[in-house]
Amino acid sequence: MLRVIEPATEEVLAEVPRATAADVDAAVARARAAWPAWRAVAPGDRAALLRRLADVIAKHHDELSVLEARNAGKPIGDARGEIGMVVDTFRYYAGAPERLLGDTIPVAGGLGFTVREPLGVVGLITPWNFPLAIASWKLAPALAAGNTVVLKPAELTPLTALRFAELALEAGLPEGVVEVVAGPGSECGARLVEHPDVAKVAFTGSTEVGRSIAAGAAATIKRVTLELGGKSANIVFADADLEQAAASAPGAVFGNAGQDCCARSRILVERGALDRFMEALEEAVDALQVGDPLDEATQMGPLISAGQREQVASFVNGDAPIAIRGSAPDGPGFWFAPTVLCPVSNDDRAAREEIFGPVAAVIPFRDEAEAIALANDTIYGLSGSIWTRDGAKALRVARAVETGVLSINSNTSVRVSTPFGGFKQSGYGRELGPHATDAYTEVKTVYYATEGR
Ligand code: NAD
Repeated sequence: MLRVIEPATEEVLAEVPRATAADVDAAVARARAAWPAWRAVAPGDRAALLRRLADVIAKHHDELSVLEARNAGKPIGDARGEIGMVVDTFRYYAGAPERLLGDTIPVAGGLGFTVREPLGVVGLITPWNFPLAIASWKLAPALAAGNTVVLKPAELTPLTALRFAELALEAGLPEGVVEVVAGPGSECGARLVEHPDVAKVAFTGSTEVGRSIAAGAAATIKRVTLELGGKSANIVFADADLEQAAASAPGAVFGNAGQDCCARSRILVERGALDRFMEALEEAVDALQVGDPLDEATQMGPLISAGQREQVASFVNGDAPIAIRGSAPDGPGFWFAPTVLCPVSNDDRAAREEIFGPVAAVIPFRDEAEAIALANDTIYGLSGSIWTRDGAKALRVARAVETGVLSINSNTSVRVSTPFGGFKQSGYGRELGPHATDAYTEVKTVYYATEGR
């Protein structure tokens, strides 16, 4: 059995059957058997089923939000937002089956055109930080494009995925179209990657595991998309609205207790503004409500596990001085107080490695050129922010920073309607937005000879 722990209490929340490689094989076989009928469902009917699925999830919004908040230790307000996003994602991709367009291309002697074909059975491997939301970014376009799926959620947070499988049936999706296997990554995830009947693996998780998935997928030339780690820069120029930049900086790095691939964990601040920024940042960190995820006022919950807390703690009390320390509850629960290190050199371990916890590194910079150089001096390139009142400078820096998703005078990253994904070792491929179904289809070119050739 998999013992699922509630991070805020350290108590067992549920026990669920622990899937094995044999369970993965059986799930792939069911998904493969379901595929011919699913791909043959008329586009409008597939769209109607996805809309119905969105409605069923919306009907269970409260139940799923509480389950996610308890299992992942995230504030209930955040969990509600995430389940709301799951509903929106299915509604958005319900528009896709009828818009899987091809091209007609001028050629001699006949007609050339392209169609988008589904891939077959797609393996989806997801992390524990935004369990059902990240799964939906893969599920919705994959299903819309006519694939069947086998979803392997993270071992620590399988509960909403397992419930989702039941809701998919309730919405009328045929048996086998959505399979969920809750088991260890090294066994079940690895089996999906090597399985000859899995056409593609869409993965979100650490860069380290992503690397092994890319290597494993090479054996069967499996299609792979990878959404991996980050070490994003929040670049604050002296001419910015400093109060606004400082007030929103904690949310950008301590949201989800810092367990966010988009966390702006390097805060780059122009030297002349450093003192004023740090004063305002301290106020904002002190005001952050850390506590029981089910309390409506909570803004930050515990970390996911004892192991994660140990890993995060190893970044504090290193070379970089602690400038700000927020509060966290005592007693049971994997709590860690939000912590700001300043000044940090971009060569320090806290600036180079993804901490995946509530620890921010403030790195001072001299000018625009140095800000860009520092922002890009990392193996990652997922997200980031730029704060300035100078529009031309904002656009210059936005073009120069090597990252997949950026916001100017804002710290947002993910929207259902815009592409999301990384540069460099933050991965390849894009999720969400109008083109996400491209990653779940193959282009087929057909030539029809009209002049006997
Ligand atoms: P992880 O890489 O440890 O695990 C992710 C998933 O992969 C889990 O389901 C796990 O069971 C599975 N897995 C583990 N070993 C495997 C193997 N050998 N073969 C196949 N599957 C395997 O990541 P995590 O700790 O769950 O999540 C945190 C990481 O995810 C962070 O690095 C974070 O940045 C990243 N992340 C990225 C994004 C993004 O969109 N770029 C979003 C969220 C999280």
